[in-house]
Amino acid sequence: MTSMVIVGGGECGARAAVTLRESGWTGPIDLFGAEPHLPYERPPLSKRVLLDDACHDTPAAVVDPSVFTELSITHHKGIEVTDVDRETGEIVAGDGTRVPYERVLLATGATPRMLPAAAGHSKARVLRTHDDLRRLHADLRSARTVTIVGGGFIGLELAASACTLGCEVTVLEAAPRLLARAVPEPSARQIHERHRQAGVNIRCGVTITAIADVNPGVATSSAAVTLSDGSVIPHDVLIIGIGAQPETTLADKIGLDIANGIKVDQYLTTSDPRILAAGDCCSFPHALYGDNRIRLEAWRNAQDQARIAARNMHGEQLPYTAVPWFWSDQYDLSLQVAGLPSYAASEVVRTRHDDVELRFGLDECGRIISAAAVGPGNAVAKDIRLAEMAIARHATPDPVALADPTATLKQFLR
Ligand SMILES: Cc1cc2nc3c(=O)[nH]c(=O)nc-3n(C[C@H](O)[C@H](O)[C@H](O)COP(=O)(O)OP(=O)(O)OC[C@H]3O[C@@H](n4cnc5c(N)ncnc54)[C@H](O)[C@@H]3O)c2cc1C
Repeated sequence: MTSMVIVGGGECGARAAVTLRESGWTGPIDLFGAEPHLPYERPPLSKRVLLDDACHDTPAAVVDPSVFTELSITHHKGIEVTDVDRETGEIVAGDGTRVPYERVLLATGATPRMLPAAAGHSKARVLRTHDDLRRLHADLRSARTVTIVGGGFIGLELAASACTLGCEVTVLEAAPRLLARAVPEPSARQIHERHRQAGVNIRCGVTITAIADVNPGVATSSAAVTLSDGSVIPHDVLIIGIGAQPETTLADKIGLDIANGIKVDQYLTTSDPRILAAGDCCSFPHALYGDNRIRLEAWRNAQDQARIAARNMHGEQLPYTAVPWFWSDQYDLSLQVAGLPSYAASEVVRTRHDDVELRFGLDECGRIISAAAVGPGNAVAKDIRLAEMAIARHATPDPVALADPTATLKQFLR
């Protein structure tokens, strides 16, 4: 009997497997994951897990392991899918297994970028997997100085964690400001200021000219980054946080269309109608943003796409339309962004009574298309959730009412 095969046992793959069964597919489900773990959550890796003194051997599971047994999902742990034979309709796994498929979902995630100048250096680290986390966890406990290349989410969360652990932290960012791609400038400035207060040395607009590794044979040798202005920043640990590239090795090999990730249509179908892709690995057209092709590396996107892809594998034809949403926790602050601020033509700011600023992005027609805020703990969650609903409903709020903190956001949902 043919199987629903899922390639990639991460957030997206695991949730797709569960949804497939829940949506009524009674045949085999084979979930292949290259990592030697059950599907686990990545967001805690750069946050609380790094701060725990005991580095847990078992990462936080995406779904309870018993669920796979209960739902008769076969999880092939630590087994990579190396090929898809589109002629015979079989996937080929690294252990030689061939599984005839009904449909395939590629949920292969993303791979961290390594700075060429740091490749192979003994102190250089990236963070994507639980195994990366275990290494970094140990390194940070003996490190005094930590240099982080990249002022994006993961770099900054790691800076907060390393600083909380008592390390002297420097963040090097090539762009003129932090979080340049996805966050409005004033919100990024708030995050910058919080890091500065904590004692993190943030340097934006810098160019790295050399990275020296330690030379075990030379007593005076030390690992350091040299910048174009001549400054030399020594480090015990060097973290490269310059983003990730979509994992398209398999899709490339079998000749699927690629466009900043595995190219899918609004139904998450690739250029082969029997193969779908979802999560960090794919780029898709988004109706809220003029059908522009986007790719997201965000936890909830991986979950939402998993559910849509699974149901479409099982014969439905559902377009993916969810509003992008992500969060980042740094120190006592949480940043939340709904929608895509980079598409906004204008901005409306609502300053709440607790001084939290909600920044709404509007398009040329006055439609709300994004909302971003930074606040302590969970303080911004409710408003961002309401804004997200307004974005989904294509609301065109009166800008004066939108800016007024006494006017309820719920009115824009009507
Ligand atoms: C440190 C860290 C912190 C994060 N924090 C946040 C956050 O605060 N907020 C937020 O919104 N998002 C966050 N994210 C992003 C979020 O975790 C990802 O968007 C999500 O994990 C993507 O899920 P995925 O299933 O698409 O990919 P992944 O979780 O990467 O899973 C893909 C899996 O596929 C496997 N694989 C690849 N190729 C093959 C193959 N050929 N055969 C078998 N298996 C294969 C990989 O080994 C991997 O296990 C964070 C990510 C990281 C790394």
